Amino acid sequence: MAFEGLADRLQNSIQKIKGKGKVTEADVKEMTREVRLALLEADVNFKVVKDFVKRVKERAVGQEVMQSLTPGQQVIKVVKEELTDLMGGDQSKIAVANRPPTVIMMVGLQGAGKTTTTGKLANHLRKNHNRNPLLVAADVYRPAAINQLETLGTQLNMPVFSKGTEANPVDIANEAIAQAKENHNDYVIIDTAGRLHIDENLMGELKEIHSNVNPDEVFLVVDAMTGQDAVNVAESFNEQLDVSGVVLTKLDGDTRGGAALSIKAVTDKPIKFAGMGEKLDQLEAFHPERMASRILGMGDVLTLIEKAQSEVNEDQAKELEQKMRDASFTLDDFLEQMGQVRNMGPLDELIGMIPGADKMKGLKNANIDEKQLNHIEAIIQSMTKAERNDPSIMNASRKKRIAKGSGRNVSEVNRLLKQFNDMKKMMKQMTNQKGKKGKGGGFK
Ligand code: GDP
Repeated sequence: MAFEGLADRLQNSIQKIKGKGKVTEADVKEMTREVRLALLEADVNFKVVKDFVKRVKERAVGQEVMQSLTPGQQVIKVVKEELTDLMGGDQSKIAVANRPPTVIMMVGLQGAGKTTTTGKLANHLRKNHNRNPLLVAADVYRPAAINQLETLGTQLNMPVFSKGTEANPVDIANEAIAQAKENHNDYVIIDTAGRLHIDENLMGELKEIHSNVNPDEVFLVVDAMTGQDAVNVAESFNEQLDVSGVVLTKLDGDTRGGAALSIKAVTDKPIKFAGMGEKLDQLEAFHPERMASRILGMGDVLTLIEKAQSEVNEDQAKELEQKMRDASFTLDDFLEQMGQVRNMGPLDELIGMIPGADKMKGLKNANIDEKQLNHIEAIIQSMTKAERNDPSIMNASRKKRIAKGSGRNVSEVNRLLKQFNDMKKMMKQMTNQKGKKGKGGGFK
């Protein structure tokens, strides 16, 4: 899970002070010492750590905390606010040009995830902002990169502008923009060439594209897992090219968090998006406050709700609510629900967004096994339509057949049926209670 190591250590360091009704200077000193170690261990830039700890200390031993009724809680609030500030404060928005198309240039080293992020960003713009982007293959040195973008375009059913490896990147970009105007594509996302290391030629080419197309955004894509290297890359790119925002990829595999916490402070450029996996829908807008909250174990309910909203449409939710009320919720509905939850992302990431989830022993050590979900799906898929609609017809021979068909055993089939029954009972109770209170609201 993202930031797991850092989160564990930071939460331990603030744990002691949390419930204190009186906080002494010595308490603050002890806590900030531990926070400092946690951040250094997470590979956060040394100077950034020093400034951070200094600010927390000043505020925590100041009047703000000492005179409050809940000093322990107040210290945590200070840590959270400072963490939020460190990552950029407010969430930064993506530019919209006065006259379309808005042009976004993607830059970064090879392997950072630039091409994948180009596809993810296009998907994000269409899915969440109703935009109609054109993807542009301007990495003319690697035919594989052009193919990769074309494949992404096919998967997303989106246009890709490419002229093979013979054309000049500046011409490609200009022609792409002209085509976008003609075809009413409101965003143009240019995937530029990367190298293994920063070199003069690469920078020269990027600057040339930049000065010719005058992009509305220049997004630098860096790999979060490379820690301080990512920060150094960001610094060099930013010195030569006016970067407008950073996309941190592979945050899903970054347990330390050093890049996420240092980049804004070092480059003064905001992190705009975070890549949370290889799939095209695994890109999140970066909200510093929500991220700070996740790191401190306070959860991130807003992101969870947004994910749920983008997977389930209102009509589906209404239909589901009705089925729960009149107890006609079937195993097919259950299967569909499970699919929707799985579309939201890996379960351990989702659990990390629930406040306090990391403190619930069962959940933390559950080691959520996606395989088990596959088993449940296989069992339901091995049932006949009639069995899925009315599991009460299930007898021993049916169960045996289902177990055989799904490659599981009968006790697993029984367990699933029992869980489904319990769930239905619970739904009934919940919908009844809602009815009694006279509230019309539903489950979403
Ligand atoms: P490029 O050379 O910068 O264009 O990099 P690619 O887009 O080809 O990505 C390099 C590798 O990183 C691919 O295997 C991607 O699937 C993977 N990748 C990209 N973004 C993410 C991410 O957010 N999380 C994970 N786990 N993998 C990613």
